[in-house]
Parts: sequence; structure tokens; C-alpha cells
Amino acid sequence: MIPTLTLKPREDERIRAGHLWVFRDELRNVPSGVATGDVVRVCSAQGISLGTGLYHSTSTIAVRLVGGEVEALDADFFTARLRAAAALRDRMLPGEASYRLVFGESDLLSGLIIDRYNDVCVVQMLSAGMDQRRDAIVEAIRAVLPGVRGIMERNTAKVREKEGLELRDGVLWGTVPDQLDIVENGLTYRIDVTGGQKTGYFLDQRINRAWVGAVSRGKRVLDCFCNVGGFAINAAAGGALSALGIDSSAAAVESARRNAELNGLTNADFEQANVFDVLRREADMGRQWDVIILDPPSFAKSRSAVPRAHAGYAELNRAAMRVLAPNGILVSASCTQLVPEAALMDIIYAEAARMRRRLRLLHRGEQAPDHPVLLAMPETQYLKFLAFDVIDPDGRGKLSA
Ligand code: SAH
Repeated sequence: MIPTLTLKPREDERIRAGHLWVFRDELRNVPSGVATGDVVRVCSAQGISLGTGLYHSTSTIAVRLVGGEVEALDADFFTARLRAAAALRDRMLPGEASYRLVFGESDLLSGLIIDRYNDVCVVQMLSAGMDQRRDAIVEAIRAVLPGVRGIMERNTAKVREKEGLELRDGVLWGTVPDQLDIVENGLTYRIDVTGGQKTGYFLDQRINRAWVGAVSRGKRVLDCFCNVGGFAINAAAGGALSALGIDSSAAAVESARRNAELNGLTNADFEQANVFDVLRREADMGRQWDVIILDPPSFAKSRSAVPRAHAGYAELNRAAMRVLAPNGILVSASCTQLVPEAALMDIIYAEAARMRRRLRLLHRGEQAPDHPVLLAMPETQYLKFLAFDVIDPDGRGKLSA
């Protein structure tokens, strides 16, 4: 028998609309004996079942629903869910061998991320319920992607601590090479799935990188927060006059240099530095760039950090606009889920107005289709990508006074 947890009156609306998290303070009672990782049923105060999910006894997210009625989260369950997830990726990104196979809640698998890089899968279990089911998940990956020869866990994300989980890294099954070559937008990247950031590569910017490649011909391009070089390499391959990538991580910069080489690009260069220092230096030296990409790490992980994140985006975009050439393009991305697109747009507009520059929105992008957005969970929509040009009819670089 699956234990039943009952919600307080009127706490069922969000969940009935499809949200998958039940917060602890929304529950009226939890039967004794229910332990972290157990399958539970959640009912409204009126006793209507809202589905089953995995319980956690201390996390603020008390239940992570699976979007239906499921008795057990075993290898068969995961195999069916992974098959559906793989079918979506085949449809949205046909012929690709590297993509996010499972994007947590959006694939109705709260707490689970799986990235596929050719014949290697890299898994993140961000909830205790998923962590306990590691073996079933490995079995399901092998069933759905029989060509896979290695499965790695990169369970070092800080959010695991909220679920009482230790940080852990290692091979779960098969063999995983230290480095492997993936192809995205026809370009090759040698990535490090065992030691690189996150799962080794940021798959979510796929489409946005292609956009940058398409507007870079003949331009001087500055790729801020370049990691292993994605935007700079697309720009260089798209015919940029020069592309310079900046990242504070020595390992990332080294990878980026090698990735440019692997693609035979001689117009891309990389520098290990703090982006804020570089933007200041460029301004001091009076240098200007035709295309500037800002793709910083998340500036806020919690609500209390949001004001500081706003200030960070303002400072960064202001510093970039200072070295943006007349008629240049500013590309400003944000992966902070707590800063919505409209807020980012307002921040950039305010800074542009202060600097007396007239920005025009050319394009807005988002996370690639292997990171779909579950409408019931705004939390799944996190990547913003805004591209502006500076309109400057008289070439003075500023609005008239
Ligand atoms: N644009 C990349 C992803 C960026 S992830 C891509 O297309 O794949 C954010 C990157 O910012 C990380 O590589 C991190 O090392 C780097 N970083 C963080 N703070 C930085 C700083 N102050 N200056 C330069 N790089 C920074």
C-alpha cells in the first residue's frame, strides 16, 4: 500500500495545474513511518488523488511528483520515461549524438539530469529519491541507448546538500574516457566529462551559438565567459575578423584553444582573465568590439540574492556597452532562473539609456529544445538570450543630448 499524504485546504491548485513539487508547509499530515525516497500518494483536502511521487523527510520540497500514478520507480519505469525523452530529442534534434536526454521536471523526472555525449552519458541526481534509484537509472539508460559504453555521475552540484546528499563523482558503469569529441552546429569540441564544469559542456546554448555565428562575418567578436569556446568558435567559423574568448578558468581556456585548433580556426584566441577586468582594460585602451557576448554564470541561486544579481547584470552590461562599437551587437544571456526576461531587458534598457545609447532588440533566444519548458513549472524556463544592436544614424555613438 502506498501511503497517502493530504494537503491543507486550497493548496491543491498549483499541483492540479501540473506543478510537480509539494512543499512541506502545504501538507496537513504525513503518516508515521514514511521515509525519504519512499513512493507516496498526494491527495487534496477533499481526498482526491493528485498523483504519486517521491517523499523527502527534511527538504522543503517534501514530494516530487512523477506526473501520474506510479507504484514503483524501478528500471521499467525509468526505461519508459527515458524512451519518451529520447524520442523527443530524436524529433527535435534529428541525427544529433549529443544533447540533454533528460531535463528533470520537463521530462517528468524531478531531480534527474542526463546528458548524452555520443556513447557516454553523464548523470546528475539532484534529489534523494533519484539518488537511491541510481542502479535502476543506469539500467534504463543501457536499455534505451544500447550503444552507450560508459555512464558517469557528476553529483557535485551544491543543491544536493539540500537533500542531505554527499557530493560525489565517478564512473557508474562501463568505461568513460577523460576526453571525448562532440559535434554541435557542425563544429567539434573536445570536452572533459570527468573534470569539466557541470557535465562537461553547456548544451543549452546550441541554437544561440549558431545565431552568433551567423552575424559575425567580418566582425571583431568578444566572447565573455567563453568556457570551452562555444560562442567564439561559432563566430570564428562564421567568418569573424577575430574572436577573443575570456574565461577565468585555466582549464576552460586551454580547452577552448584546442577546440579552435581542432576546427582549423586561426581567427579565434582565448585569454584566462576576469571578464570585468578585461572590459575595464579594453575601455581604458579605447578599444571597441563589433559583437560582444555576455554569458555569465548564474548570479543568484536564492531569492535573497536577486537584488545583487540585478546589480551584477547592470554592471556587466554597462561595462560591455562601454566598449561596444557604433552599430555593434550586444548579446546578453542570463541563466539565473530568478531573473526573468522582462527584468533583464529592463536592466539593460536602463543602463543603455544612462549611457545615451539607443538599443534595438534584434533577437531573443532561449534554451535549446532538448531543455523544454514545462508550462506548469516556470522554474524550468531559465535561459534568456537577448541580442541588440546600437542604432547610431549619425555615427556619433550616442543619442543626441
Ligand atoms: N559561454 C559558455 C558557457 C559559460 S558558463 C558556453 O557557450 O559554453 C560560465 C563561465 O564563466 C564558466 O566557464 C566560468 O569559468 C566563467 N566565469 C565565471 N566567473 C567569471 C569571471 N568573473 N570572469 C571570467 N570568467 C568567469
